[in-house]
Amino acid sequence: MTSQPLKVIIVGSGIGGLITAIMLDRAGIEYVILEKRKTHSVIGSAIAFTAVVLRVLEQIGLYEDIHKISKEFSRTTISMQDGKVIGVLDGEFAQERYGYYNEIMARPDLMNILLSRVDSSKILMGKKVLNVIEQPEDLEGASKDDLSKWVSVHCSDGCQYLANLVIGCDGAYSAVRQRMYQNLQSKGIHVPKIDFAPFRFDQHCVVGVSKPLDPEVYTILQKPFCEFDVILAKDYSYSIWLMPLNNNRISWMINGKMFTPQAANKKDAKKQLEENFKISEWGPEAAEELCDKVRGFTCPYIGGTIGDLIDHTPKEVISKVMLEDKMFETWHSDRVVLLGDACHKVVPFGGQGATQAILDAVVLVDLLHALPSTSTRDISDAFKKYRALRYDTAKSAVAASRQGGALFSAKGFLMDLLRAFTFKYMPRWLYLWTSDRIQASRPIVSFLPPVPDRGSVKSLA
Ligand SMILES: Cc1cc2nc3c(=O)[nH]c(=O)nc-3n(C[C@H](O)[C@H](O)[C@H](O)COP(=O)(O)OP(=O)(O)OC[C@H]3O[C@@H](n4cnc5c(N)ncnc54)[C@H](O)[C@@H]3O)c2cc1C
Repeated sequence: MTSQPLKVIIVGSGIGGLITAIMLDRAGIEYVILEKRKTHSVIGSAIAFTAVVLRVLEQIGLYEDIHKISKEFSRTTISMQDGKVIGVLDGEFAQERYGYYNEIMARPDLMNILLSRVDSSKILMGKKVLNVIEQPEDLEGASKDDLSKWVSVHCSDGCQYLANLVIGCDGAYSAVRQRMYQNLQSKGIHVPKIDFAPFRFDQHCVVGVSKPLDPEVYTILQKPFCEFDVILAKDYSYSIWLMPLNNNRISWMINGKMFTPQAANKKDAKKQLEENFKISEWGPEAAEELCDKVRGFTCPYIGGTIGDLIDHTPKEVISKVMLEDKMFETWHSDRVVLLGDACHKVVPFGGQGATQAILDAVVLVDLLHALPSTSTRDISDAFKKYRALRYDTAKSAVAASRQGGALFSAKGFLMDLLRAFTFKYMPRWLYLWTSDRIQASRPIVSFLPPVPDRGSVKSLA
């Protein structure tokens, strides 16, 4: 590790920012988090992790706590609105093959664990980042040579913070990314047009987590494993996902076709980007419209309706979220780098955005730990390696999430065939082969003692 202490600013305290902070802490690197929200509030949805990240979460000391708040999940049943089952995807083999069962948990429970592992004095709340300036022109008492080693970060409350590098973990509509692109362009560095194009957005989604329910009524809760149920509308315009959690709660997610049509031309695209930005954090009222459309659907657990389940969910934990996806090409400048949804946004159909953010952190923090110095060249070389090591996997995740979305929502004879093959007729060997490929790499960091690879299918990294 570098002999000069490295100072890092993380922008954003979502899953990506907090995991990065915990890893930096383990690596002995100084950091502070700037978060725009005044308090920690999290949408009431579920989040699932597989062995791909559970191994590193064990290595950094989080697995035991995560296991306590989770339910292990074993299979997903996909059925039509009238109750007809069209397929079952099984995942029980995960522990034997990859060392861990897949685990599902309520997102607020996960965030509580992550927050408990970060020194609260290192998270500065109410700090909305507006600007990021590399090599500021003047700093009190600093020589010209010194200036080249700093980045200054400016917040809406007028405060300014300094670090050797900035990690933008500020989500899909990242301000750090916007500023970085502007700064690169002003220096004459090319940023591809695609990086300015709007997100691909054709679905919206409402999520909630019920209050604890009676297992005598919702008998699925008596099962030791979580079993997902996915219900598809007759015309595939909606899908409903039901996921039992620990403490007898059920997490649910309703996906539907978007209200606003996709922009047809470049002029409309800019308008759409602005519109998406405005509606990226819809609250409970906006959620009601979509909920009403699916109230009458059969609930597979009790023979009642989805409406019953919605009624068992406190209104304040029902939220509407955006299901947009996009892969960004430009991930860093000399001293500013992006991580998580800020550089690759997936939708939650097999794309696993939080998983990708954790994988980013594994690679980035490993490289920062091994930095020979805080010089601009060493830092930007580390960022180049980070992008090179992560780009392909993250891009595949974005593509997989798009294909996953289509499987649950696209109409047509060919899609029906693909659904039947994927959910019902895929040979077992092909199913396992596909799963092995997805779980092939379960990386850990190099600066901590390794955890054993307990799976019968060994990890590539
Ligand atoms: C319904 C749903 C289910 C999902 N399920 C899964 C799953 O099962 N598995 C999985 O791996 N992934 C899942 N995901 C995806 C996953 O939640 C995200 O990819 C992940 O949380 C992204 O984390 P992040 O830290 O990159 O960004 P975010 O969570 O968006 O965090 C960004 C943070 O930055 C802050 N911020 C923004 N702008 C600024 C600014 N200017 N200044 C300071 N702070 C700022 C925000 O307030 C926020 O706290 C799901 C997503 C959804 C919507």
